[in-house]
Amino acid sequence: GRLVEVDDIHVRYGDLVALRGVSLAVEEGEVVCIIGPNGAGKSTTLAAIAGGVTPEAGAIRIDGRSILGQRPEQIARLGLSLVPEGRHIFGTLTVDENLRIGGYIQRDRTAAKADLERLLELFPRLAERLHYPAGRLSGGEQQMLAVARAVMTRPRLLLVDEPSLGLAPKIIDQIYEILLDLRQRAKLTLLINEQSSNRILKHADRIYVLRGGSMQLEGRAADLQDGE
Ligand code: ADP
Ligand code: ADP
Repeated sequence: GRLVEVDDIHVRYGDLVALRGVSLAVEEGEVVCIIGPNGAGKSTTLAAIAGGVTPEAGAIRIDGRSILGQRPEQIARLGLSLVPEGRHIFGTLTVDENLRIGGYIQRDRTAAKADLERLLELFPRLAERLHYPAGRLSGGEQQMLAVARAVMTRPRLLLVDEPSLGLAPKIIDQIYEILLDLRQRAKLTLLINEQSSNRILKHADRIYVLRGGSMQLEGRAADLQDGE
């Protein structure tokens, strides 16, 4: 079924109109990418879905129910988890400690522990560095940690803001392989922001192109690839 529906939302920051009528839909199990240049409104779109900004017009529905006016904590309880741009890991804490912060949202420690063990199989680079200060990880490892920590909250929908930012092509592919693996194993639905579609088309089911706060294009990734 339809997990997320964004219907003609408008968002402004003071005088600046960031979104001028943005609509999108994500079906359960899909991998959907929003592609657009810096300033297009990608982060604002994810923030609106996660409850961090409130649209002045339009509707956002999760499982068919409106979430407008709900606080981010309430929305998170519906099974949403946001991996923000810039990763926001705790650099002086260890990898293990960062992951446990994600696990605290789960009340059952035994379940959290089992999740962590299973999750670390997907992240061998993190498993080998569990007791490193997270600030000493490479950029790619920090991105993996940010994703793993978000997954520790057991979301159904992972919102990921520019996971490729500043990373080498090889690492980007690794991160996408992990995301696609998580989609299978943890039954995740993915909505991902990226600036460029170059390395992304082959991983996504569908793409939206956002520019200047408006949706320009929507299509199946396979069709967009054929049309190149
Ligand atoms: P993107 O993620 O595509 O780079 P953003 O959603 O971050 O785009 O930004 C869309 C527009 O809104 C930009 O013009 C940006 O400068 C502006 N903007 C984003 N966040 C804020 C904020 N907190 N206050 C004021 N303006 C903002
Ligand atoms: P115990 O509860 O068995 O005394 P510890 O607190 O010593 O366990 O943690 C042992 C390991 O279990 C940790 O290294 C960590 O990997 C995992 N763990 C414990 N609590 C959590 C949690 N809330 N979330 C995720 N992992 C956890």
